[in-house]
Amino acid sequence: MTQRTLGLCGLVLFLAITPVHAVEYLTGLKWQEPPVVAPGAANSDPPADAIVLFDGKNFDEWKGADNWKIEDGTAVVGKGMITSKREFGDIQLHIEWAAPKEAKGQGQGRGNSGVHLMGRYEIQVLDSFNNKTYADGQAGAIYKQSPPMANATRPPGEWNTYDIFWTCPRYAEDGTLESPAYITAMHNGVLIHNHFPLLGDTPFNRPPRYDNFGPKGPISLQDHTNPVRYRNIWVREIKPAVPERVREPYLLDGNKERPIPTDQKPVSITGQVTINGQPLAGGSISFSPPVGGRTFSTTTNDRGEYTIEPTAGMSTSLYNVTIQSKEGTKTKLPAKVQKPTTTDLSVRTRAGTNEFDFELESK
Ligand code: MG
Repeated sequence: MTQRTLGLCGLVLFLAITPVHAVEYLTGLKWQEPPVVAPGAANSDPPADAIVLFDGKNFDEWKGADNWKIEDGTAVVGKGMITSKREFGDIQLHIEWAAPKEAKGQGQGRGNSGVHLMGRYEIQVLDSFNNKTYADGQAGAIYKQSPPMANATRPPGEWNTYDIFWTCPRYAEDGTLESPAYITAMHNGVLIHNHFPLLGDTPFNRPPRYDNFGPKGPISLQDHTNPVRYRNIWVREIKPAVPERVREPYLLDGNKERPIPTDQKPVSITGQVTINGQPLAGGSISFSPPVGGRTFSTTTNDRGEYTIEPTAGMSTSLYNVTIQSKEGTKTKLPAKVQKPTTTDLSVRTRAGTNEFDFELESK
């Protein structure tokens, strides 16, 4: 290409990306500058803000490790589960594991261990290289709830990595579940769970359930009598960026401000909840998609009014509505509006502000 045509291409591109009368959308949100986090030399190395739980030297960060060994910078599973001394809420966790090189046993008996998030939600560790077992019990499974989306297990003796992105369950003040735990995870760089909502904990002998054990919990590594090895364990505590609204969103056309057309506005909900004609004060109201996904919850004020802000991230979609009264009050709501599984209330949201009043009756 000659110098002249190059110059021409450059000019055309420049015009294409900066039209003269651009209308700009401005959010009206003020964001904190994201913190600088120096990454590790490789993606498997701990970033600057990570808490290193095991670097091959000692078990200082763990309880119960008296019968575990350190060999060649790796932690070898011994008798009993080990548990991190620190407790965590929402996290990014990196952990590496290797099943014994000599593949002994079969099914659940070969290279079995497990990473227990918050001490009770297990992502399975198992030698699943040419080793058949039940799908929701193989390597990477959320034990007895979901198989991994792929089996990316390396041969026994080789190192596997799990990169886990964990959102804790959230509970309302009265202890009822507001939103489940979610897991996204990669096994050796292969996505195995994509925002999977857990059904509860993962015991062997009963169905999953949620118990409110508080907002944080430790990480535990399972002893299933197989000498699985672990190395390079680090964790980062994570929190979503939260904006401050400094004004309503708008369009800037040249230097003229214009409001956002209604059909382009983000979804928000406002309304009032009454029970037998009286405002439901201090109650909770939740909107959940019928098939998985994020639940949006808020509380009602003294007049029974509630608002889900336009910044909350709701979609134009169908939501099941659950409503509960304030803990300790005698207001009796119809049972059928109180649980996501039994509610007969649902709403369909559209762009802009949605007004939904709920007039409940109870005897
Ligand atoms: Mg296990």
